[in-house]
Amino acid sequence: MHYAALASGSKGNCHALSDGDRTLLIDAGISLRQIRQRLEALGWGVGAVGGPVRALALTHEHSDHVGALGVILRRTEWVILATADTRRAAGRAQGVEIPAHRWIELEAGHPQDWEGWRVLPFALPHDAADPVAYRVEAAGQACAVVTDLGHPTALVADHLQDLDLLVLEANHDVDMLREGDYPPQLKARILSRVGHLSNAAMAELLHRACSPRLKCLVLAHLSESNNHPDLARFAAEEALRGTSVALHVAHQRDPLALSVVSD
Ligand SMILES: [Zn+2]
Ligand SMILES: [Zn+2]
Repeated sequence: MHYAALASGSKGNCHALSDGDRTLLIDAGISLRQIRQRLEALGWGVGAVGGPVRALALTHEHSDHVGALGVILRRTEWVILATADTRRAAGRAQGVEIPAHRWIELEAGHPQDWEGWRVLPFALPHDAADPVAYRVEAAGQACAVVTDLGHPTALVADHLQDLDLLVLEANHDVDMLREGDYPPQLKARILSRVGHLSNAAMAELLHRACSPRLKCLVLAHLSESNNHPDLARFAAEEALRGTSVALHVAHQRDPLALSVVSD
């Protein structure tokens, strides 16, 4: 499987997964133009490693995840995978409607077949209508993209077992956030049980979820104001001690691409 973080952070999120023949995007919080430019910059154009984008799976309706939805509906033929509540909430937030013929209905906890892939959305604690993360199994490999969650839950940890690639939120360092310039209400929202995952909570989840199969960990959705890549890395390295997991950090502007090969 091939994975790319096209953008990750509070200014826009977009992840791509490909088996070489087709590409699934998870979230589209940067412009369609940027999505295309970044795929091309990574060599994921038509006929190259990624194969054409055919679908977009939505995690939840916050604008840093669905900002390009309207343009995508108008300018592409991509199919949209979303739960019924996220379809409604994202449509309302962006002033568009995802037409029934472009929509594959998902339900949290229920795997969906998409072009021979197994796409499993699972519930997250986050302040949105019906937020989910994704576990995707294709070409004999398992990957998960897990961002925008306020705290680690047993259900989330269960879905992270036996992964080859894990993309996991490391949003903030609690002390940097507490001492930083954000207004008190925003700090409280981020720190809440339905806000964002701190470096420490990420490490705790990793302890519970890291299995011998895991090859790559990508830290994602880092706050530019309340975190530093070195702090997030340090927290993850502690949790990964004694393993040979390759550690990466996804960025807001610079795309990152990885290939996970079977043993
Ligand atoms: Zn977000
Ligand atoms: Zn969110």
